[in-house]
Amino acid sequence: MTADAGRSMRAMLFEGVGSPLRLAEVAVPEPGPGQLLLRVLACGVCRTDLHLLDGEVEIAQPPRVLGHQIVARVEPDGRRVGVPWLGWTCGECAYCRSGRENLCPRARFTGRDIDGGFADYAVADERFCFPIPDGFPDDQAAPLLCAGLIGYRCLRMCGDARRLGLYGFGAAAHILVQVARAQDREVYAFTRDGDDVAQAFARELGATWAGPSGAAPPEPLDAAIIFAPDGGLVPLALRAVAPGGSVVCGGIHMSDIPSFPYSDLWEERELRSVANLTRRDGEEFLRLAPEVPVHTRVRTYPLERANEALDDLRAGRFSGAAVVVP
Ligand SMILES: [Zn+2]
Ligand SMILES: [Zn+2]
Repeated sequence: MTADAGRSMRAMLFEGVGSPLRLAEVAVPEPGPGQLLLRVLACGVCRTDLHLLDGEVEIAQPPRVLGHQIVARVEPDGRRVGVPWLGWTCGECAYCRSGRENLCPRARFTGRDIDGGFADYAVADERFCFPIPDGFPDDQAAPLLCAGLIGYRCLRMCGDARRLGLYGFGAAAHILVQVARAQDREVYAFTRDGDDVAQAFARELGATWAGPSGAAPPEPLDAAIIFAPDGGLVPLALRAVAPGGSVVCGGIHMSDIPSFPYSDLWEERELRSVANLTRRDGEEFLRLAPEVPVHTRVRTYPLERANEALDDLRAGRFSGAAVVVP
């Protein structure tokens, strides 16, 4: 307890795998050297939060406040900033020194190793906070910070692919289709069988084609990005891309990939994953988002109903992104 122990806040705490988050009254965190005290305005919900809840991505030291797409005001100066998943890197290792801080073995992640934004307040290392572009309301800015950023990094890995497949049409894809269209790419959206709502949503946002993930696209793809955490999509996506095409896996966790014949990979198809983000991704994407301009569709939930947001994400009950608002 600190001298300021009288000041408390609400937080939704992760206490262990398999339990819902618990609403608790805890002390407002105190910023350490180089950290900012942030009053949370909105915090996006991400599929990674489900992987954390389910233990597919481990939280080493619970209890922990989840939430890694934070839009906040700095106290006391009032600047509006965003806090992403990448919360701290060592700055010294070979990865950090070669523009690949996303792979720093000592990296600490917001809402996993550092308390996140499902709370009234948070603290964050100032070097890993981004200014939020004007024109985005707080709740609509939140999904840019992971869904948008990771989607953008995945898109970078696709080079100049003109025909782009997106497997899983959730928060990331609904942002990325807008970016891709602004770059004159064609987007082919793959969803769960029979998910007419997601397919219609994709077309509404500019997808050239939308259909079930097992279907062959009308034209071979130059690249595909897989956002859904289903390893079974990997061979399907490889079969959908043309020779020389790339398949990029954008999630932090995926079910096992079934075996597939080498001929699906042959002809210089590439398969790779994307891990985390660099600050360069953040700076580039947050510059790009207002130019597109990206419009996020969000469903907001009050802080104390964060579990409902997570359940709705798991069940696919909304289009776009869920955002928790204190
Ligand atoms: Zn995320
Ligand atoms: Zn490092």
